[in-house]
Amino acid sequence: MAILRGLSDAAAAALDLAFPAACAGCGCEGEPLCATCRPALDARLAFRGGTPIGLPADLPAPLLQLEWCAPFAGPVRAALHELKYAGERRLAQPLGEAVARRWDRVGQGATVVVPVPVHAERERQRGYDQAALIAEVAARSLGLPCVRALERARATVAQFELDRDERSANVSGAFRVRVGARAGDATGAAARVAGRWILLVDDVVTTGATLAACAVALEEAGAFAVSAIAVARER
Ligand SMILES: [Zn+2]
Repeated sequence: MAILRGLSDAAAAALDLAFPAACAGCGCEGEPLCATCRPALDARLAFRGGTPIGLPADLPAPLLQLEWCAPFAGPVRAALHELKYAGERRLAQPLGEAVARRWDRVGQGATVVVPVPVHAERERQRGYDQAALIAEVAARSLGLPCVRALERARATVAQFELDRDERSANVSGAFRVRVGARAGDATGAAARVAGRWILLVDDVVTTGATLAACAVALEEAGAFAVSAIAVARER
């Protein structure tokens, strides 16, 4: 299995070299997100932290901070879609760097980055977890460790099919901190989140119910506090 995974990574890298990227935003050839479309990722960069912009300003408990880089629209939406469904993994770089820029500007306190996990079955089908790729780039840019500390405890319905109350119930108890270790995580996930201030990273946030459910699981495992950031906010 590890060999197969290695081969598929090598094949993916070879394909990346063989096919120059087309911009997810405008289709122009050259980069996965071109210099004209990339600034859309920084739409909120100059905004103060927590600026509600006509949104319900409530922060889903127990999150201390909920940030995002841009509205879920235009080139940002297209880039997230390409990363998630079209296998364009190179997009994790500009998306993760945008997360780091926004967090560097307004974020407070976090010392460990943890991605929101996709369903294990979906990661198997896709070969990667898009939120983890974004989180790894963001963590590297911020100079923080990235720990894949969470896993899905049970299956959930896709959040977009549900209203606000249903979303919260759908993801409540859906996450848990992984038991045991895994490559690059020698001391175990629980040990690495205990007593730490966590920054959760996801691709898209809507109500924040998923991030809140992840935060509950992290705090139950001993995390000191949990803040969150997504590339985009959808409403
Ligand atoms: Zn473009």
